[in-house]
Amino acid sequence: MDSLDILTSADRALPYFQPIYSADGQIVIGYEILGRIEYNDKIISMGPFFMDESVPEEYKIEMDDLILAKALDLAVSENDSFLLFINRDANLLMMDQGESFLGLLKEYEERGLALDRIVLEITEHNFKGDFGRLQHMLTYFRTYGIKLAIENAGQESSNLDRIGKLSPDILKIGLQPLVTTSPDEAYHHVLQSIALLARKIGAAVLYEDIEVNFQLQYAWKTGGRFFQGYYLSHPEGHFIEKTLHKDKLAGEFRQFIQREKNKLEKFHQLSQSFSERVQESLAKFKKIGSDYDALIRELSLDLTDCSFRIYICNEEGFQQTENIFKSGETWVSQPEYKLKNWSWRPYFLETIFRMRRNNRGYFSDLYRDIETGESIRTFSYPIGEGLYLFIDLPYAYLYDQDGML
Ligand code: CA
Repeated sequence: MDSLDILTSADRALPYFQPIYSADGQIVIGYEILGRIEYNDKIISMGPFFMDESVPEEYKIEMDDLILAKALDLAVSENDSFLLFINRDANLLMMDQGESFLGLLKEYEERGLALDRIVLEITEHNFKGDFGRLQHMLTYFRTYGIKLAIENAGQESSNLDRIGKLSPDILKIGLQPLVTTSPDEAYHHVLQSIALLARKIGAAVLYEDIEVNFQLQYAWKTGGRFFQGYYLSHPEGHFIEKTLHKDKLAGEFRQFIQREKNKLEKFHQLSQSFSERVQESLAKFKKIGSDYDALIRELSLDLTDCSFRIYICNEEGFQQTENIFKSGETWVSQPEYKLKNWSWRPYFLETIFRMRRNNRGYFSDLYRDIETGESIRTFSYPIGEGLYLFIDLPYAYLYDQDGML
């Protein structure tokens, strides 16, 4: 069905509603309104029509408004106050400063629709106009209680600075690229950064395109407050019972929680036994005394199966020894590292504080070593006299331990 057919059969356009679930209540808290059209007894998506650049913008706006009006007719007749997520192209909205869109919503406000139920979904990165004016319009919308969601956060040329400036209520993140069993590691980091940004700017994260169980688990684990996708519900021409999947979702959450608890338990055990190993190793070389360069040389040989870099710092992060670094199969001294300062590194002082306070060792998170380019962990351990031992563990070792990655 081409765009012209759609234009001439506008009366057969209709809204579909895709349920959006909350992590806290495991119930439907709203719907994204999607454009569909009836054609040859089939319901087809109007996505291609809205993407078609040959369709004049006025027709797109008209069609958008027609579908929205039909959706709002249905919504006001329901005795419920779920959220309504409305897709709008920011470029089209700006053609009249959002006046017609707001005008339509106000008509329904008179018919009993509270405007704080409206969530406007826009894509930040394809907006071509004056950003200041867009910001101004959205600020104005929000005086009516209308919420703002930024779509496709993290995709293409998303501009984190602009997303921050719009201070959206919700960031929508598509999990489609995670469908494969070996997701792109870089994309994974992008998603984590977006989730962190959301937390910092006080936006809730909505994960969409959830199609399989492990995506739901990912969404749950990565701070997703809202979920949407075929795995939960397909779009339908009507609203559904909001508790329909509550038991199923709660059951899946219990499994996620159990799995996560097992992982944490396992990680704690690994940390415990690694700690013991380091302790035993240190005890062996007690007689070395305060020749710390000699100490790390001995340690490197004793821990050669599980480490590739060892050094000692004081609590201000000034390195008190050389580096001992494993190059291929041999350990080499790197004296140029002596007295370098590492206090600027993420979590450094925090870890020192925890070690001093609890007098035990800790594993760092998994991170990429700048020199080797490998994903590694650092184990840090307090050795007394205000000194702290740092042992970098290579990926190959972590990979062999069940629960370290
Ligand atoms: Ca959308």
